[in-house]
Amino acid sequence: MFLETPNYKFIMSTFLPSFRFLRCPLCRKDFKLSGSTLICKNKHSFDVAREGYANLFNKPIKTKYDKTLFSARRSVTLGGFFDLLAETLAGIIAVKFKGASNLTIADCGCGEGTLFAKIVNTARKKIKNIDAVGVDISKDGVKLAAGKNRDMSWIVSDLSNIALKDKSIDVILNILSPANYAEFNRCAKSGGLILKVIPERGYLSEIRRALGKPKSGGENVKKIFYENFKNAKETRITQKQKIPQALKKDFLKMTPLSWSVGAEQENIDFGGELTLDLTILQADI
Ligand SMILES: [Zn+2]
Repeated sequence: MFLETPNYKFIMSTFLPSFRFLRCPLCRKDFKLSGSTLICKNKHSFDVAREGYANLFNKPIKTKYDKTLFSARRSVTLGGFFDLLAETLAGIIAVKFKGASNLTIADCGCGEGTLFAKIVNTARKKIKNIDAVGVDISKDGVKLAAGKNRDMSWIVSDLSNIALKDKSIDVILNILSPANYAEFNRCAKSGGLILKVIPERGYLSEIRRALGKPKSGGENVKKIFYENFKNAKETRITQKQKIPQALKKDFLKMTPLSWSVGAEQENIDFGGELTLDLTILQADI
């Protein structure tokens, strides 16, 4: 019987591009690669898993994000709900780095990675050589991401101590996810870009209305972003989309956790359309 064994050479060739941006989360020294193990000068070592990701966060933690949520988010993203966002972000990157021959992009809070992969693949039509590294504290998310996207690198890492070197990244993305601006500033190259995406009032408002949840906008998050980055600017995207019946449950499963959709609400009817309403906050570093 033929057993499929992981091809480490292939996995390592896909992981290698990002290896030079990584640093040890324990002592902050550079890594050397020995086989499929990252080792720093102080002999802290981290294996690259057969799926092609490295777990650079050695304390196992419980996150609120589980496999059900990741799988729902993946279906919704593959279904095209966030395509306008992916195109707009890739467009901002292409304009900012027009004529660049290579680029490094990190998505901090990448989850299961499908949206990040869409953004990178769209940006690669304009800028050929993009090294992309997805960062998330959830091992489940990163594992899913790595399994599906071999031409990108993926690490499990804590946003308060991102395992990326100082000034190593051109574009830092942070999409519908908590931020750490001190760390983003540290990792971003001078001349780089930080792009944070926040929900606006209309975002999935049809679901919120059906659940009887109050309206909320991202004003406070926006204020904090402007306090951190005086030169910030913003782009808002709004789009109503028809939702196929088969995807409706996935939308309910991926709704913001603060709305707490219980099991009894999983069959709630929110109608046939949903609104994508997001603001992209942009800081030039
Ligand atoms: Zn170390």
